[in-house]
Formats: sequence, C-alpha cells, structure tokens
Amino acid sequence: MSETGKRILLHACCGPCAVWPVELLREEGFQPEGYFYNPNIHPDKEFKRRKETFLSYAAIKNLKTIVDDDFKQDRWEKYSPEDLSRCVMCYTLRLEKVAQFAKENQFDAFTSTLFVSPYQNHELMKEICFGLQEKYGIPFLYRDFRTGYRKGQSMAREMGLYRQKYCGCIHSYNSSSFKDKITWD
Ligand code: SF4
Repeated sequence: MSETGKRILLHACCGPCAVWPVELLREEGFQPEGYFYNPNIHPDKEFKRRKETFLSYAAIKNLKTIVDDDFKQDRWEKYSPEDLSRCVMCYTLRLEKVAQFAKENQFDAFTSTLFVSPYQNHELMKEICFGLQEKYGIPFLYRDFRTGYRKGQSMAREMGLYRQKYCGCIHSYNSSSFKDKITWD
C-alpha cells in the first residue's frame, strides 16, 4: 500500500514512540490518526502521564487523536510475574480493538507505534496483526519502524516529552530497576 492520502489508524502506546511512525507515514503520503488505547498501563498516575504526553505531542504535530480511557488492571493481575504469556493477551487486546475501530470507522488500514520499539516482541505482534487483518477485513500496514527508533527518541527528547522507563503493566513496573526512581511531580 502506498497511495497518498489514505487514512491510517495508528495505535499509539505513548507520545515518544509515536514520533518516528508519524514522521515516516506522513513522508510516505499517508494521513495517520493516533489512537491511544492502553489499558495495561499501571499505576493510574502513569496512565495519565503517558496519555497527557501523547496529547501534548499530538498538539505539537497537529495529529488527529482518539483516546480510550479504558483501564483494565485486573486482567494483568491474574498473571504471575514470571508468566510472559500475558504479553500475548496484552498485544491482542490492544491491537484487536484498533483493528475493530479502524474497520468500523472506515480507515484504510491500521498499524501501531509498538513496531518502533526494539524491546517489544516484534514478530509476535506482526503475526497477531496479520491475523486481525483476516479476521476483520481491514488491511494491516506493516512497517518496521525500529530503523528510526533512535531518531524518534532523540526528537522526543528535543520536544521535551516524558519518556517512560518500563513497558507498562504492573509486572513490568514492579520489575523495573527504575521503579524507585520514578517520581510523581
Ligand atoms: S510487559 Fe509490556 S507487553 Fe508484556 S504484558 Fe506488560 S505491558 Fe504488556
């Protein structure tokens, strides 16, 4: 897919990770719109901080946004800290919602800022998204955004965006070496 002007629903996990995908998609002629849907983020203060950072970034770059405030902590608390199958649930829950929303709202395709991160399970997310493409009949726009990860993070720093130190859920928060350094000003 490369046609100019196509509306792409871009799932946004946070502001900094949106920087490079938005840049690249716009360069390619697409019209990305950011969809914040991350019920995994713990605790509530961090959820609000990432959401507000994303909205600040969107305002700077004149990016249309949709925000879903859903917060489903109980889903992650059912897993033991060692059980990484929670990531399959976490990706599927978020990406499925994005595919559904894209289909219901006449977008041309969907994708996610999660594909910019070298810390996520890229191949697993890709497999999930191609499955959703079949399930909902909405194209998945695959891009390996990781090539611009450092550039995007550097641009985010220049914009003064808050950059989080852990993935998002309660288990990633508890195991983060930054946990005790995270402040809530
Ligand atoms: S580690 Fe990240 S991807 Fe895995 S469940 Fe937690 S928030 Fe989701």
